[in-house]
Amino acid sequence: MANKSKFQAIRGTRDLLPPETALWNHVEETAHAVFDTFGFSEIRPPIFEPTELLARAVGGETDIVSKEMYTFEDRAGGLPDPGEMSPDGFLNEIKRAMNSGQLANDAAVIAQLEFQLENYNLRSDSERARLIWLYFVRGLRLGDSISLRPEATASVCRAYIEHNMQQLPQPVKLYYMGPMFRRERPQKGRYRQFYQIGAEVLGGGDAPAIDAEVIEMVMTFFDRVRLSGIELDINSIGHNAPNCRPAYVEKLKAALEKAKDKLGADSQRRIETNPLRVLDSKLEHEQPIIATLPRIADHLCAECAAHYAAVKRQLELRGVFFKENWRLVRGLDYYMRTTFEITAKGLGSQNAVCGGGRYDGLVELLGGPATNGIGFAIGEDRLILSLQESGKGAAPQGRDVYIAWMGERAYATAIRAAKNLRNAGFSVELPPTESKFGKALERADKLGSRYALILGDNEVSEGSWTLKTLADGTQQKFTEPELLEFLKA
Ligand code: ATP
Ligand code: MG
Repeated sequence: MANKSKFQAIRGTRDLLPPETALWNHVEETAHAVFDTFGFSEIRPPIFEPTELLARAVGGETDIVSKEMYTFEDRAGGLPDPGEMSPDGFLNEIKRAMNSGQLANDAAVIAQLEFQLENYNLRSDSERARLIWLYFVRGLRLGDSISLRPEATASVCRAYIEHNMQQLPQPVKLYYMGPMFRRERPQKGRYRQFYQIGAEVLGGGDAPAIDAEVIEMVMTFFDRVRLSGIELDINSIGHNAPNCRPAYVEKLKAALEKAKDKLGADSQRRIETNPLRVLDSKLEHEQPIIATLPRIADHLCAECAAHYAAVKRQLELRGVFFKENWRLVRGLDYYMRTTFEITAKGLGSQNAVCGGGRYDGLVELLGGPATNGIGFAIGEDRLILSLQESGKGAAPQGRDVYIAWMGERAYATAIRAAKNLRNAGFSVELPPTESKFGKALERADKLGSRYALILGDNEVSEGSWTLKTLADGTQQKFTEPELLEFLKA
């Protein structure tokens, strides 16, 4: 009996369907156009990367790396099934694969296998020995650990280093768009496969004008796609030197310790692991306590304070409205100095549509030269949701011309007409089978066609075609060249 269970998209993933995909395309085309006017070029990094790269860039202690990444072992194909041969046979196969380069040479793996075989007497014929051996061998890590990317800044920095982009004129300005993957609890505006549009500026110093221009670019883009009711929050989180953020974090810790009893369990834990994140708390009862905590703006070193003041001035010069938000700290480890977040309407608590900031140490952390960096990532899913909520969703796609044809000779003409109209840029529906004109016009209407081109054998032999405007039912006669002229006008 056939298996009738229905397949469904995996939890947290979804199909983007028409007509919504038209809106996605419009948003992406607008991003290409706007970013191009700011001198950014597109980069398309791979969807998976070495786990180590992401762990180092994003930070091992972050939620993303510690529990949200889709990580798997990239085990080389073609290895024999250990269940189908003796333990020594399998061991030989592994050695052969390492010698031939099919598997990475790893003496520790061989040593482990030999140790298990000797120590636990796993060469015996007993079923128990066989099971232990299989359990052990199947759990062995033989391939590289790779992860689906949860964000793309790490990839862009890796590419900058890998392709020696520091030799290009600086700064290098890149943007990307595409899917990201995080194993989060799915809800409105939060998915396991979601899409980001992001940009990075690498190298070329840390002039505050760079920060301001990047922010101006996102705001211009949001304006161009007519995203309404947005708010830009900015902050500076200083830099990692004894006279700046670390000193502030100590003061913050001390203040949090004093109020510890009044904080929830999460915040209590964060006092040790990541005190800045307490400022992020949305818990009602913690708000009065947070309001009394020391603020980083009062503890920035002189350079960071001057940088922050200059960024704000630069934003004003560019006519970009912002709100200072001293509690904006951002979740990823690599940020320093300028951080910003943009929120939009109609999204409930998932209302952040863009997050970004400066990350001057990141390229160096990944093994490259000391390089300044700043960037942002827009949550495209949320941007689309917000556009839809404010009535800027996509209309179903209609057709310019529906060709209603009857008869063999008419069909040949219809095929040619469709080709010419499409070449001229019109969307054309050419039905694959003949139908009565009444039926054809009904279908043209259902598809939202603007015109129906009526082609019967009469029209074809007279060389005079009937074009019906579906909105008002009027009809006009044209020769073939006249028709094209009329439609273009
Ligand atoms: P949030 O606080 O909402 O979890 P975040 O700080 O984790 O956001 P970033 O890593 O800065 O987000 O990513 C930038 C943007 O990507 C976010 O502002 C948001 O619009 C979007 N985004 C992040 N995670 C998701 C997700 N799981 N589903 C949809 N969009 C997301
Ligand atoms: Mg998040």
